[in-house]
Amino acid sequence: MSDQEYRRAIGYANSAIDLLKRATIPPYPHFYELLYIYSTGVNPALNARINAILATGEPSVEMAESLYSEFLSSQDASERLTGVSARMSNRIEAMHDAIDTAMTTANAYSATLQTANGDLATEVPAARLKQMATSLLVETRRMQSANMALESTLEASRAEIATLQRDLDDVRREALLDPLTKVYNRKAFDDGLLRAVAQACDSGRPLCLMLIDIDHFKRFNDTWGHQTGDQVLRLVAMTVKSNIKGKDIAARYGGEEFGAILPDTDLEGALHVADSIRRAIQAKELLKRSTNEKLGRVTASFGVALFRRDENPSSLIERADRCLYAAKRAGRNTVIGEDALGAETVAA
Ligand code: GH3
Ligand code: MG
Ligand code: MG
Repeated sequence: MSDQEYRRAIGYANSAIDLLKRATIPPYPHFYELLYIYSTGVNPALNARINAILATGEPSVEMAESLYSEFLSSQDASERLTGVSARMSNRIEAMHDAIDTAMTTANAYSATLQTANGDLATEVPAARLKQMATSLLVETRRMQSANMALESTLEASRAEIATLQRDLDDVRREALLDPLTKVYNRKAFDDGLLRAVAQACDSGRPLCLMLIDIDHFKRFNDTWGHQTGDQVLRLVAMTVKSNIKGKDIAARYGGEEFGAILPDTDLEGALHVADSIRRAIQAKELLKRSTNEKLGRVTASFGVALFRRDENPSSLIERADRCLYAAKRAGRNTVIGEDALGAETVAA
């Protein structure tokens, strides 16, 4: 690294730290990375978003978190994808080269055979015949070894392609997951909801959407720290995941919000699932990993809506969201289904 490069890197680092301080965002590695990249200016789309936030609103940890998952955590997957595709092209090139070499050898061999065939058409003295046999043997051996080389290149390619296929599957799967909680991410949720809506329209079967928001989570973070908050997000995600089944999809919908798509489920069934999750979350007594300190409990609020034929996904989400807010207004740690909207009955 040259002196100049070093000074430039220190400049970016200082600027990232200054920005974190100004926005009162904790300097956790991923937030630092986000603002370091902002300082370098290499990602204009990211910079435009951060500039808009700095100009108009109060930057928050939640915004930083969602920018990170939008711009950087998926970058990981796309970088890996680029790596896999570079390895794939190298492999294909190696196969082309091997096939080219084998073809050149095969053509030369065929020319040798043709010449020998021509020579044999006339009367050939014994000594010349012996010479021809020796040279044909040499050519045949050369051909054999070229074939073996081709075979082993193809065999290596086959093994490498199988590995590449597995890597590609991993990248594809990872690109759909939220890196923190390992449930599906927002993109997978949006795609899954579109598919579920289309299937419900086709089959006429019911479909429910559940939105979940952790109660007073800001207070929890403020009291116990962001990293302990992250553990809670993982715990809630696992609780949602372990209470659904089959074709259901659990996803992290936003910072401390989760969504569950429940195909083939009517409102009554979905309310039942939501209440099981609510009770399971409430029942967990939280312990700080490092110190075993008791952290109390967290609760969550739930909104559940039933898909109406021919509505679009966003109107279903909006209704579930209204139910969720009704649950918050009703005192939190509550499930509200769309049948109770307006009445705002507490289902808990
Ligand atoms: P309410 O009961 O009304 O939902 O209150 P709340 O405090 O949960 O809601 P609010 O929207 O005010 O705050 C959400 C908080 O969630 C803010 C932020 O600190 C936290 N949060 C969002 N994403 C993350 C994350 O990835 N990790 C952690 N630890 N906290 C997060
Ligand atoms: Mg929220
Ligand atoms: Mg909340």
